[in-house]
Amino acid sequence: MHGITDRTLVLETLEKIGEEVILQGWVETKRDHGKLTFIDLRDRSGSVQCVGFQMMGELTTESVIEIKGLVKARPERMINSDQKMGAVEIEVTEYEVLNKAKELPIPVSGDGKEIHEEVRLKYRYLDLRRPRMNMALRKRSQFIQALREYLFKEDFVEVETPMLTKSTKEGARDFIVPSRFQEGKFYALPQSPQQYKQLLMTAGIERYFQVARCIRDEDLRADRGFEFTQLDLEMSFVTQEDVMNTVEAMVKHAVSEVGGVLKDQSFPVFNYKDAIEKYGADKFDIRTEEEKEAGVLAFAWVVSFPFFKKVDSTDAAEVLDGKSGWTFTHNPFSTPIAEHVEQHLKGENIGDIVTAQYDLVCNGYEAGGGSIRAHNPEVLKSTFKIMGYTDEEIQDGVGHMLEAFEVGTPPHGGIALGLDRLAMILANETSLKEAIAFPMTSSGRTAVMDAPSPVSAEQLKELHIAVAASPKKKAK
Ligand code: ASP
Repeated sequence: MHGITDRTLVLETLEKIGEEVILQGWVETKRDHGKLTFIDLRDRSGSVQCVGFQMMGELTTESVIEIKGLVKARPERMINSDQKMGAVEIEVTEYEVLNKAKELPIPVSGDGKEIHEEVRLKYRYLDLRRPRMNMALRKRSQFIQALREYLFKEDFVEVETPMLTKSTKEGARDFIVPSRFQEGKFYALPQSPQQYKQLLMTAGIERYFQVARCIRDEDLRADRGFEFTQLDLEMSFVTQEDVMNTVEAMVKHAVSEVGGVLKDQSFPVFNYKDAIEKYGADKFDIRTEEEKEAGVLAFAWVVSFPFFKKVDSTDAAEVLDGKSGWTFTHNPFSTPIAEHVEQHLKGENIGDIVTAQYDLVCNGYEAGGGSIRAHNPEVLKSTFKIMGYTDEEIQDGVGHMLEAFEVGTPPHGGIALGLDRLAMILANETSLKEAIAFPMTSSGRTAVMDAPSPVSAEQLKELHIAVAASPKKKAK
């Protein structure tokens, strides 16, 4: 096999008519015509027809091969103008099979939507070969690259925060990880980097971002897994408008870099109350039917949300957080708007307090959300008091934040954008799973690999864990 310096990509053969080239890739299709065998060879740049005289008959589709051959212009009448590679073909002189493919468990041509989800995910490495899926991953990568470019230009610093951490309150259950060294103690996987990014503001970073993995133990819906990726950012010395303007400019840059078309160059801003009145929800689609057809992206902001809401007794995480019967609507680390700080500190008219929260919606989906934070320890304490936490519970839960807020924490605010969702919208898909390389199945099983799965008795013992038999089993 040759290395990359000898390799020509399929797309490059258009410029190499008359030259001998080495191509590497997959046998996309094969047609036998007696002595002549035609294959389409596919690599990351495209696929091209290759012709073998008395050879290649034994190749199986989707095998990986290397060929040596001559690039020839196809005769005028044979040019297939529908195909970007229609003007050339390769006359094969030698070839080598690098990996022979047996019959595939799922087809890799077509859009794959007719294949059962569990099967697509079990063979995800094949499913991703289809151009639709391959393109979605490439577009996602380009979009993230463009976001990064913008943020670096604006003096942001990319910082990683821990995966093994303490519970962060984002309104979902935590995934917990047992400690081997400290018997009976657990880490939580981050629901978001919320607290660490705020601490980076205390640390003087001023402008932080991260392409952050977040893990929340939520009830699964067809379209939601336990993990997701967000573009997380935080800024110091900013007003709500500053953050919104920065995010808007960043999103506009990145969308245009991947060829997306925006409905509004300036994203309209709705009050929560007006949005509910007008659309019956705080995420809504402001596109016309024609704009929907054309795949236009319509972003809008929603602001002026209530800070607190009554606990939904059917939501386990809310019941846990809202001990007083009140819980936060978006983020307990937010500040109330300036006019409401006093009543917040006094715990008065709780239902009327407005938070400095802003949500970004796009095409009917929630694309992101953020807020200006409480950086005064009294305000943060008051939020947890309103939710019914005792002083000890507050100290235990967010004492480290209160402490940091007493040693020079600048006013700050930030946002997180849901990258899976944005990638989905940009790829013109309607399921999040189509924009994630290895998503979970709807029943919470991992793609390709078999998890969750039992672990050995030794592993459990080391972790000081005993698995209780389910009540049904005990009864037997
Ligand atoms: N931490 C919030 C979230 O994950 C976003 C933010 O307020 O920055 O939804």
